[in-house]
Amino acid sequence: MIQSAKTLSGSLELKAEVCVIGSGAGGAVVAKELAEAGRDVVLLEQGGYYTKEDFTQREEEMMPLLFEEMGQRSTEDGAILILQGRNIGGSTVHNLCYCFRTPRPIVEKWRREEGIVWTYEDLLPSFERVERMLHVQPIPEAQVNTLNRKIREGCEKLGFHGIVAHHNRVNCTSSGFCILGCPFDAKQSMALTYIPAADRAGARIFADCPVDRLETRGDRVTRVVGHVADAAGTVRGEVRVEAELVVLSAGAINSPQILLRSAVGGKGSTSIGKHLHLHPSVLLAGIYDEDIYGYLGIPQSYYVDEFIDLERNPDSGYIIMPIFGFPVATAAQLPGFGRTHARLMRSYHRMVGILVLLHDQSEGEVRLGSDGRPRIRYHLRPAEQALMAEGMRHCAEILFASGAREVVVPYHREPLWLKPGDDLFVIDRRGCRPGEIPLASTHPQGTCRMGEDPARAVVNSWGKSHELRNLFLADMGIFPSSLGAPPQITTAALADHIAHFIAAHWRKLVG
Ligand SMILES: Cc1cc2nc3c(=O)[nH]c(=O)nc-3n(C[C@H](O)[C@H](O)[C@H](O)COP(=O)(O)OP(=O)(O)OC[C@H]3O[C@@H](n4cnc5c(N)ncnc54)[C@H](O)[C@@H]3O)c2cc1C
Ligand code: SF4
Repeated sequence: MIQSAKTLSGSLELKAEVCVIGSGAGGAVVAKELAEAGRDVVLLEQGGYYTKEDFTQREEEMMPLLFEEMGQRSTEDGAILILQGRNIGGSTVHNLCYCFRTPRPIVEKWRREEGIVWTYEDLLPSFERVERMLHVQPIPEAQVNTLNRKIREGCEKLGFHGIVAHHNRVNCTSSGFCILGCPFDAKQSMALTYIPAADRAGARIFADCPVDRLETRGDRVTRVVGHVADAAGTVRGEVRVEAELVVLSAGAINSPQILLRSAVGGKGSTSIGKHLHLHPSVLLAGIYDEDIYGYLGIPQSYYVDEFIDLERNPDSGYIIMPIFGFPVATAAQLPGFGRTHARLMRSYHRMVGILVLLHDQSEGEVRLGSDGRPRIRYHLRPAEQALMAEGMRHCAEILFASGAREVVVPYHREPLWLKPGDDLFVIDRRGCRPGEIPLASTHPQGTCRMGEDPARAVVNSWGKSHELRNLFLADMGIFPSSLGAPPQITTAALADHIAHFIAAHWRKLVG
């Protein structure tokens, strides 16, 4: 049974062998694997527990309910919107189901640069377990919708390489609004797969329980401290969990927040919150003469990997992806006012959205704000701004090659309205400077990175804190670098790998 503020009447004082914080791609996997290994597990999740009946697919209702900071989290300069889920299942309830294993050259890079002790082959059993649980399979051709087909058509004409990806959906009705939560239980999120399995294995799962800090003594975490708060934020009581081992999986922005609030300051602590990568993305829209109805069907099925070759260069490149924008979000992002804006919105059903997602070497930092909220700083290097602009030009080429009669590049001031035959290098000249065009991130990572050197990393190759002997981390924050691929399978596979390490070494770890 999953408890929440609806069923919890007051404060919680619990004892457990393991306390897991966060129920997304990292935390849900750890909770299930350790509960099945016979450990007594308590899982604390800050957000609520929602099921298909709650997912109304209305953005004005779902964004405030299900996302961090009501869907408005951003870098401190407001230039980059950061979307993260805040509910049982974390961001897996909202993601777009692309499933990719960790690129082998990235694992090699992690071994070379951060001394990671395991190999790509060592991760294979974890990939297989995770993919089985999430029902990963190829997207059927019949479910590639018109929007995705247009992008494929453009790529094929230009000779750009792309693929129809794998996904974790079962019996998908192609209703299209995946980001707002699936009302048909087709998306195999953590809330539908690992969390019920953890529950069956005896894990005690508590929604609406944000963790504030860890209490420590010497080199051990002694207690996890938080509170019970309902969806409106009203505090219902205190939460205190005494556990022999703690796994922090609150995501790449919140895990460092919890550590910084806990005033840890020993080995590995200098890197907490540093090395933030965002996989920043920027989007363009093409307008066609024919109907596209981008809101019908799986939003992302095709995936353009022409401009990333991690074997050749594991430190650079970008992916091009289709994107379908919700009506209000599209209206907010599209440029213009009054009649100009209305004219654009009248073409909503004839629009194809396309985005560039950067494998970023640029870095940022997450710090504690005076109001308790994270302060997220990120600097997109000029060379990477130029790379994104190059990607935007290729996006425009793809749209025109598949018949767009107009392409909109939504700079805040003086947006570009391009016609077939226009000089597309105008995009390179305008560039992609944060603050001048909307940027977004759904993949924040790297803020508590893994590595064998405590002077460079927060946790070791097994997610174990360099400072506190009974603290592990398992979320996207532990990536030692930008991943350069959609991250849910990597996050879940690393969590599986870490959970199996904990289970195998339990006595030594807690003794
Ligand atoms: C819109 C969107 C689309 C995406 N599309 C894809 C895709 O197609 N393919 C792909 O591979 N990846 C995709 N991703 C990314 C993928 O979902 C993430 O890689 C993955 O969910 C990260 O797992 P995590 O455990 O690090 O964080 P999350 O899944 O975000 O989980 C963290 C959990 O911790 C909880 N938490 C935070 N703070 C606290 C606290 N103080 N106390 C208790 N609990 C706390 C949060 O509420 C959340 O539930 C997408 C993400 C988004 C947002
Ligand atoms: S497209 Fe499929 S997975 Fe996405 S919300 Fe609709 S039914 Fe669910």
